Amino acid sequence: MSFCIDLKGKNAVVTGGYSGIGLSVTKTLLAAGAKVAIIGKNYDKFSSIASELEKIKGNAGFSFYESDISDSGGISKTIANIILQDGKIDILVNNAGITKDAILIKMSDDDWNEVINVNLNGLFYIVKNVIKYMIKAKAGKIINISSVIGESGNAGQANYASAKAGIIAFTKSIAKEYASRNIYVNAIAPGFIGTNMTDKLNETVKDNIKKEIPLNRFGAPEDVSNAVLFLASNLSDYITGATIDVNGGMYMR
Ligand code: NAD
Repeated sequence: MSFCIDLKGKNAVVTGGYSGIGLSVTKTLLAAGAKVAIIGKNYDKFSSIASELEKIKGNAGFSFYESDISDSGGISKTIANIILQDGKIDILVNNAGITKDAILIKMSDDDWNEVINVNLNGLFYIVKNVIKYMIKAKAGKIINISSVIGESGNAGQANYASAKAGIIAFTKSIAKEYASRNIYVNAIAPGFIGTNMTDKLNETVKDNIKKEIPLNRFGAPEDVSNAVLFLASNLSDYITGATIDVNGGMYMR
């Protein structure tokens, strides 16, 4: 018996799939044989990594759609365009997200609204648009990137924690609504992963965080994309509505 995840013939969409965790997800899905459409706000960031993707794409292709996930109308058009180009979406990875940290008394309405708009509302707009095609196809794998902060809470991140906790509750609800249509909806809650998002932290803060992690180190983007690969494949066909923690033991439910 051998286990090799083969996603040949599958079409994936990855939001923010050109940096950090998202780039690792794009590379992993391409390496497994899937075709990947990246949705992101920044064409320049995409073009700076396009040659890297060329090297691993094999027979599968990749494409880029410039779109802000917090713009409901824009996302609706973008998903329609992807369907026009590729015909179907088998795998959706909702990875794009932002932080605007501040303690509550210093948190502006804009800090709050922007984080909820991108991290939670954006995910809702995309899933609502994509799921109608998955319903028609009677198949789909949706993977939502939440965060350990959505489970544990964190001082200075009430906006981010609320959005990421919302993603977990949304995941469970949509998993229940569409399980009968063969659509799987799961979340991943990464702990601290080495990317631009965590590079912003100073060394003292990083050292203090590591003390709270039983494995005593930050994770790598590949630790998250490996979990995405599992949830995108048929090896996870009895898992829906779950949240997989990829956090080095930092938070245990
Ligand atoms: P990152 O900043 O490299 O990635 C975020 C991506 O989202 C970027 O590509 C960015 O361009 C895109 N994006 C942001 N706003 C957007 C918008 N409005 N429309 C379209 N795209 C937009 O950071 P990352 O660490 O790779 O984060 C990826 C995901 O993982 C995020 O959802 C983040 O909350 C989550 N996460 C990260 C960590 C970590 O430690 N790095 C931990 C837990 C969860």
